[in-house]
Amino acid sequence: SLSDRLGKIFDGLRGRGALSEADVGEALREVRRALLEADVSLEVVRAFVEQVRERAIGAEVTRSVTPGQQVVKIVHDELVRVLGEAAVAIDLNAAPPVTIMMVGLQGSGKTTTTAKIAKRLSEKQGKKVLMASLDTRRPAAMDQLRILGEQISVATLPIVAGETPVEIARRAAREGRLGGFDVLILDTAGRTHIDEELMAETAEIKQLADPHEVLLVVDALTGQDAVNLARSFDTRVDITGIVMTRVDGDGRGGAALSMRAATGKPIKLIGVGERMDALEDFHPSRIADRILGMGDIVSLVEKAAQTVSAQDAQQMAKKFKKGQFDLEDLRNQLQQMKKMGGMGGLMALMPGVGQLKKAMAGANVDEKVFDRQIAIIGSMTKKERANPDLLNASRRKRIAAGAGVEVSEINKLMKQHRQMADMMKKVSKGGMGSLAGMFGG
Ligand code: GDP
Ligand code: MG
Repeated sequence: SLSDRLGKIFDGLRGRGALSEADVGEALREVRRALLEADVSLEVVRAFVEQVRERAIGAEVTRSVTPGQQVVKIVHDELVRVLGEAAVAIDLNAAPPVTIMMVGLQGSGKTTTTAKIAKRLSEKQGKKVLMASLDTRRPAAMDQLRILGEQISVATLPIVAGETPVEIARRAAREGRLGGFDVLILDTAGRTHIDEELMAETAEIKQLADPHEVLLVVDALTGQDAVNLARSFDTRVDITGIVMTRVDGDGRGGAALSMRAATGKPIKLIGVGERMDALEDFHPSRIADRILGMGDIVSLVEKAAQTVSAQDAQQMAKKFKKGQFDLEDLRNQLQQMKKMGGMGGLMALMPGVGQLKKAMAGANVDEKVFDRQIAIIGSMTKKERANPDLLNASRRKRIAAGAGVEVSEINKLMKQHRQMADMMKKVSKGGMGSLAGMFGG
């Protein structure tokens, strides 16, 4: 993943003050590769990387993070900025019936999304919705929408054989008015690829129906075609927004960035499954994380910036790498976790730390437990903290008395420490090098 690769670069970038051209260039080569792997169009990748380069070179590096971390943060923020900062809702601010026209290629998810939107508007916003299928090319398509309508209790325009899409659109508009509907959703026919006939038909329907929203439905797995696809539809029918479907699949969703960059139109909704309720608002930062394939690294960096000093972080990273983890380190971790609100904090955000979490003092320890554990370690000598093997029965008794706890608590803490140290060793051997890197290693 990108985080692993950037981890290596973090190492290379260690210990420098501000972002130099060379630092940024190296990191951006990895970012570029990650974006292409996430199916972002080459043209968009190029422009995006140049934008980030301009922003990053010379940028001040926050005291407590490494330059590499800083680059990731800049890339992420820029992705969010390009994707659009906030979720943009479907606009229903027009005279009823407010018409929404769904456009896109065949199989992109138009019919499914039509029904999902209808369900959402009728159930959550109390709107009276009418759906109409204009797909005359595939006889089953009209039935598909009718069946979905029955399933979600939303009206569909009665099917009349032999009509053209434009005739259906006209009838739908009339029915929408006479039937007192708030919203009319037109589900159009697509083709397997963009061609003049599809565009001409879509444009003709648009002209007649005069929709308030024109939503382009695109599969999240769309690759290098995304820019061309979005531009073609936008040029011909002036789309008002994009719906990205199959975000539940394996795709990294780079199409979102491509289409947004190509059209400037907002991504309004995402489809996350075949079920009728599998429709969500678009959250730019979630998609940005997904595109970069980096989990919660950004929030980790943000939290780390607040709480972990650069020096501590570097020392910790070195120890992780060597597989060392003594009781002094445990005390530091406990203190940090306390500051960050328990295991929901720093450790929990690290990639692959789930097991570590389990090995720790229990996933939902409260602050009192941290305090007691910190007190226990505080009752040890410096030597004992550095070398836990020294802790024989009589020393444990002394420490228990000093900390005001039972010896069994000391034993429990020692066992936890053992488990954590083992885990650190394993983790730092297998791919956790990047984690160490993130801590300034
Ligand atoms: P249309 O040709 O554009 O109308 O596409 P359909 O709405 O008929 O969808 C084609 C297929 O994609 C159907 O099997 C849908 O169930 C499926 N589909 C649509 N949206 C999603 C989604 O968000 N996630 C998943 N996994 N499948 C979807
Ligand atoms: Mg369809």
